[in-house]
Amino acid sequence: MATKNFDAVVIGAGPGGYVAAIRLAQLGKKAALVDREELGGVCLNWGCIPSKALIAAANLVDDIRRAGERGILVGEPRVDLDKLRGFKDEVVKKMTGGVGFLEKGNGVEVIKGTARFVSAGAIEVDGDGEKTRVEAPAFIVATGGRPIEIPGFKFDGKQVWSAREAVDIPSVPKRLVVIGGGIIGMELGTVYAKLGSQVTFLEALPQVLTGVDPEAVRLVTRNLKARGTTIHVSARAQGYESRRGELAVKTEVEGKPLEIPCDQILVAVGFRPTVEGLGLEPLGVKLTPRGFIEVSSAYRTSVPSIYAIGDIAGPPLLAHKASKEGEIAAEAIAGKKSVRDWVALPSGIFTDPEIAVVGLSEEEARQAGHDPVVGKFGFGALGRAVAIAHPEGFAKVIGDRTSKLLLGATLCGPDACDLVAEAALALEMGAYLEDVALTIHAHPTLPEAFMEACKAALGEAIHALNRPERPRRAGAGAPASA
Ligand code: NAD
Repeated sequence: MATKNFDAVVIGAGPGGYVAAIRLAQLGKKAALVDREELGGVCLNWGCIPSKALIAAANLVDDIRRAGERGILVGEPRVDLDKLRGFKDEVVKKMTGGVGFLEKGNGVEVIKGTARFVSAGAIEVDGDGEKTRVEAPAFIVATGGRPIEIPGFKFDGKQVWSAREAVDIPSVPKRLVVIGGGIIGMELGTVYAKLGSQVTFLEALPQVLTGVDPEAVRLVTRNLKARGTTIHVSARAQGYESRRGELAVKTEVEGKPLEIPCDQILVAVGFRPTVEGLGLEPLGVKLTPRGFIEVSSAYRTSVPSIYAIGDIAGPPLLAHKASKEGEIAAEAIAGKKSVRDWVALPSGIFTDPEIAVVGLSEEEARQAGHDPVVGKFGFGALGRAVAIAHPEGFAKVIGDRTSKLLLGATLCGPDACDLVAEAALALEMGAYLEDVALTIHAHPTLPEAFMEACKAALGEAIHALNRPERPRRAGAGAPASA
C-alpha cells in the first residue's frame, strides 16, 4: 500500500472541507483533500446551488404567468425538463470545477476515495479498491450529513425521493406530497408547485418553518396556498401504500386519520451527521448526545490531532457556517489563535417570499436580558419593491431600547437572502440603530427597507407613520413601533 504524508488532511470536500484545505495551503501547509464523490459536497452537487438554479427557474415561470399584470402578454409557459435539468447540471459543473481549479491552484492534493481512520495520525483511503495510507499530524473531518430516512418511507428514488433525487427533477408529478415543512421541504415544494405540481405539505409540528417569525411564515404559506397547495400542520406522516397506480400517504389531522392520494413523495425531515464508517469511535472521539462530533471553540475534537467542522460538528446546518469553521480549524492547525467568535450568523430561506434572519429575535433578546425595541418597515411602501412588482414582506429589526444597540433582523421579501448581508455586517461591527439609520442608502433600492426599519425602531421612519407604542400588557411582547 502506498503511503503519503501531509501537514494536514481534510476529509470531505463540501463548503467546510474545501475551504479548510485552501486556507491550510494559504498558510503554508502541505494539505490534502479527500472525498469519494465530486468536489463541493451536498451544497454544490445537490443542495444549495442546484436548488437555487431550480428556484430561480421556477420564479421565472411564475413571473411569466403574472406578466400580464404589467402589460406583457405571453402564453402559459411550458417547461422543457431535460433542458432545465441540463442547465442545472451545467451550473453544478461550473461550480464544482471551480473548486477543483482553486484546490489545484493553491497546491492542495485532491485524493478520491473513502477515508477511514486507522490511528490518530493516519487514515486509509479506499479509491475503488486501491488503498492508500495517508499520514498527517492533523486531520479535519468535514463529512457533513445526509437526509434522514423515516420508517415507512424508504428512499427508493422512484416513489419516495429525498432532496437528492428531487433536485434532479426526474418529472413534475401531477400530485406531490412533501413530508417535512422545514427549509428543504418548503423550498423544493415551492419549486414543484410553481412548475405545475399539486403539492400537499405534511408537517409534524404546529407550524411549518419552525422557529421562523410567524408573520413571515404566514406570507409564505399564503403564497403557497394561492398556488393551489395544501398545508397540513400537526400532521406526522405515518406511512404510505401503493395501489391501483397511485400512492396514498397516511397521516392524522386533528386526531382523524387522513389518506392523501398522490403520484410522488418527497421526504425532507432533516439531516443526520455522517459519522459512521470513519473509524472515529475506536480512537475515542467523543460525540454529542445527538450524534454530532463534540468540538472545542477551535473545532478540535477530544482527540488532539483530529478537528471536525460543518454539519458533523453540530447545528445549525449551514454551508457558510461550515466554511467559517473550516477557516478557523485551518488557522488553529497553522498555530493561529483562531476560535469561534462570530456575532452574526445569517441564514436564508429561499421560499416565496424569501426569509432571512440574523442575530436575535424579539423573544431571544428578551431572554438575553434586553428590553427590546422593534422597528418594522413594509416592502409595500418601498418604491423599488413596488416598481419590480414584489411589494410583499417586511424588514424587522430588534434593538436594545436603552442603548439602541442593534440586536437582530428578520427580512422577508424580495431578495431578503441577499439583503441580510448588510444586517450581518452591522451586527458584526456592533452597530447601533442610528448607525444604519444615518447611513445614506441609494434610492430606489431594496436595502432602504432595512434603513427604514432601523429608523422606525427609533420612532423616525420617514416613509411610514411612527405610531407611539401601546402600553405593554404583562407577559405580552413589545409592540412594533411602526
Ligand atoms: P429541517 O430540520 O429544517 O425540517 C424538517 C421538518 O420535518 C421539521 O419541521 C420536522 O418537524 C418535520 N418532520 C419530521 N418528521 C416528520 C414526519 N414524520 N411527518 C411530517 N413532518 C415531519 O430539515 P430539512 O428541511 O430536511 O433540512 C435539513 C437541514 O439542512 C436543516 O438543518 C436545514 O436547516 C439545512 N438547510 C438549510 C438551508 C438554508 O439555510 N437555506 C437550506 C436547506 C437545508
